[in-house]
Amino acid sequence: MPHPSSDAPSPRPGADPSPTAADAAAPASCAGAGHDTPRPFGGFLESALEAVAARRDNSIRLGKADGLAVLRAADLLGIGWLANGVRERLHGRRTYYNINRHIDYSNVCVNHCEFCAFSREKGAPGAWTRSLDEIFALAESAAAAASPVSACSPAAAGSSVAQGASTPAVTELHIVGGCHPDLPFEYYVQMLRGLRERLPGVHLKAFTAVEIAHFARLSGLKIEAVLTRLIEAGLGSLPGGGAEVLTPATRRMICGEKISARRWLNIHRTAHRLGLKTTCTMLYGHVESLEDRIDHLLALRALQDETGGFQAFVPLAFHPAHSRLSHLPGPSGAADLKTVAAARLLLDNIPHVKAYWVMLGVKTAQVAQSFGADDLDGTVVEETITHMAGAQSPQALTVKDLRRLIQETGHIPVERDSLYREVRRSQKLAEATGRRPCG
Ligand code: SF4
Repeated sequence: MPHPSSDAPSPRPGADPSPTAADAAAPASCAGAGHDTPRPFGGFLESALEAVAARRDNSIRLGKADGLAVLRAADLLGIGWLANGVRERLHGRRTYYNINRHIDYSNVCVNHCEFCAFSREKGAPGAWTRSLDEIFALAESAAAAASPVSACSPAAAGSSVAQGASTPAVTELHIVGGCHPDLPFEYYVQMLRGLRERLPGVHLKAFTAVEIAHFARLSGLKIEAVLTRLIEAGLGSLPGGGAEVLTPATRRMICGEKISARRWLNIHRTAHRLGLKTTCTMLYGHVESLEDRIDHLLALRALQDETGGFQAFVPLAFHPAHSRLSHLPGPSGAADLKTVAAARLLLDNIPHVKAYWVMLGVKTAQVAQSFGADDLDGTVVEETITHMAGAQSPQALTVKDLRRLIQETGHIPVERDSLYREVRRSQKLAEATGRRPCG
């Protein structure tokens, strides 16, 4: 699906990043790349990229061959330049971040995914499950730094919320866990209800499609009924985990007990129909082929054509340590950046591509801003899933850290809420944290 676009040039990665007023006014629509943008360094090192650029510049929708050309190319700067053109067309020099807190409620899981270092059998050493009171206490401690905040203007295609609403500094709780064999569906309903009562201004982004399918099994309800009950209890959106690799044969190799690719897509389809926004992911850098990666992206794009419900794509770099695939090396830095770039180029209908610093590592996430990523995710505070697989990234980043990582590459930090609306802090908090106040 080609999209119209204007002719503004896009600097190559590393070019003068001085933001302009036009940069700050990020287009809200998901458009293709620019026409006839000047080549940055006298041409690409590989002719395959030249062909991708020609299609991009003529608003011809890129296909599987284009995606493979990007993943197979060695001209890293050329790849970055191609993807950065799309990123800048959509978002200018803006990079988004949010103030969030992850809560992993349990690592007990009935599945045995080959790549997972997080899950444990019930009762096994290292297994844990949080009580609702523990979860409420964690959430309340994250929200303790209460401050007035309003979402002043849409950062993307969302609408603004009421001005002056009193909201804690944390704007999102990101809640996921394993598929626990006996926690009843009511545990999850009460979790959301209790969090909404305690923190009414905080967005609850909770439960992957895999967990939603598990709740349906536990409760005997259909997917739509499960989602409806969770929405009534306070669910705001779904995270995109559990997609892994959607190609059936590879999916069977790495997570044969998990829901099928078709079911994963159907649950997101249902969520979108019920009005929920979701994100989508891909776990890459293990046993999958480059074709698997591109087929995965194209499957996500096809669903997005139908529903428009994906807000962001999040490439998840595989971390092998302590998993059954620990003999694999995991993706290289070049593979990380090429995957981000291929996603930005192919997913012409998904507004945001996230450089999730927890899995990419902080340094690669920072560089990924010049390879198509426009979002660094958030403060996170406590992350167990990737760190149990040996992630070397920190457990948390401060707002100051995130803004520095963005500004050092010449990008403009923009705090967003979970629906990509810009969040502007009061003057007092802005002075305390270095964030930009309303006005
Ligand atoms: S990846 Fe998720 S579903 Fe698979 S074993 Fe780990 S926690 Fe369970």
